[in-house]
Amino acid sequence: MSAFTYRNGVLHAESVPLPAIAERVGTPFYCYSTAALESAYRAYADAFAGMDASICYALKANSNLAVIRTLARLGAGADVVSVGELKRALAAGVPASRIVFSGVGKTRAEMRTALGLGIYQTNVESLPELEALSEVAASMGVVADTAVRVNPDVDALTHAKISTGRKENKFGVDMELARSVYARAASLPGVRPVSVAVHIGSQLTDLAPFRSAFERVAALVLALREDGHDIRRVDLGGGLGISYRGEVPPSLADYAELVRATTGGLGCHVTLEPGRSLVGNAGILVARTVYRKAGVHRNFLILDAAMNDLIRPSLYDAWHTILPVDEPARDAAEEPMDVVGPVCESGDTFAVQRALPPIGAGDLVAFLSAGAYGAVMSSTYNSRPLAPEVLVNGSEFAVIRKRPTIEELMAAEEVPAWL
Ligand code: PLP
Repeated sequence: MSAFTYRNGVLHAESVPLPAIAERVGTPFYCYSTAALESAYRAYADAFAGMDASICYALKANSNLAVIRTLARLGAGADVVSVGELKRALAAGVPASRIVFSGVGKTRAEMRTALGLGIYQTNVESLPELEALSEVAASMGVVADTAVRVNPDVDALTHAKISTGRKENKFGVDMELARSVYARAASLPGVRPVSVAVHIGSQLTDLAPFRSAFERVAALVLALREDGHDIRRVDLGGGLGISYRGEVPPSLADYAELVRATTGGLGCHVTLEPGRSLVGNAGILVARTVYRKAGVHRNFLILDAAMNDLIRPSLYDAWHTILPVDEPARDAAEEPMDVVGPVCESGDTFAVQRALPPIGAGDLVAFLSAGAYGAVMSSTYNSRPLAPEVLVNGSEFAVIRKRPTIEELMAAEEVPAWL
């Protein structure tokens, strides 16, 4: 059940009417539901109960400390791709022993920080990165538990910009090279190759690509064991999709069954790195209509939110359901509107010719399914301060990231003395 529903004609987050939040923090703002975050995590935990598995939340989807903390309290580990995310995970209460460090270009300094903290595993994506990790670890007198992320050359059947498991993508080590990379790993002093990692893309709504990838990982684990490597873990990445526009993603029960069927016989500890499927439907973006502009060819709703706040429609042609916060009459006639922001780019468009009930200037609207890859991808383009984030819990809410002032944005800049 969605955490964002109409009650008495007004869209609520759990028991909080959205206009009450708008009044407190202004618009636009992100709003997350504790109940939705918790139920998404529990659904994962339940589906994988009884399996030797860890759920390491992929912070890239939403790295607000309060969001991470909500999941960490339930037992989530973390998948991080930078020292910034690593520090956030720790600050939010995820123990280092539950943190996986992923990413295609970790610097030596980042490796040093992560190894110094004693993280669970480092996933490398190339031979030079493996060699750098060994060098850094050896210089610190430690041995890094390491996975090589392999590229299984599987089409994830998702948007090209979030597909990561094809041979032409920058991610992972080609399957054909994997055994030689593990052989090199075994010869290096600072790494212990204990795991095979894979992640083929995001927003997958079909299990078939997962099946192909996991089967290839399982076959590789057996081959590596034959080569004498002590592979005890597999990291199967994230990628499970959510419903933005009526997609029906695979159930967690079926996904867990697939994991069991493809890798269960290996006796490996399984790490999962879900991001979007934990937080995507737990958040919305709320904006106010500034103007309704009637044109000869098109009618526009111009909002106070823009592509700098939510870039997914511009970047991926992503669809977000848009709801008026005041519930429209059941028989309200819909009209096609282009929903846009005020930024000086034609790409600053949320929806084209979207059939919407009447929405007037001053009205609030909500973009659903904005909890993942929303606030984290926002910028201050056009000197627009980052939208605040709010977490709702039952009938209370708290600002979990405040809106900076323009003065705060400018404070990081300096005009040189010669000017
Ligand atoms: N793990 C890795 C290595 C990733 O690159 C990503 C996202 O691209 C994820 C996990 C999380 O993916 P998702 O949010 O689709 O679950």
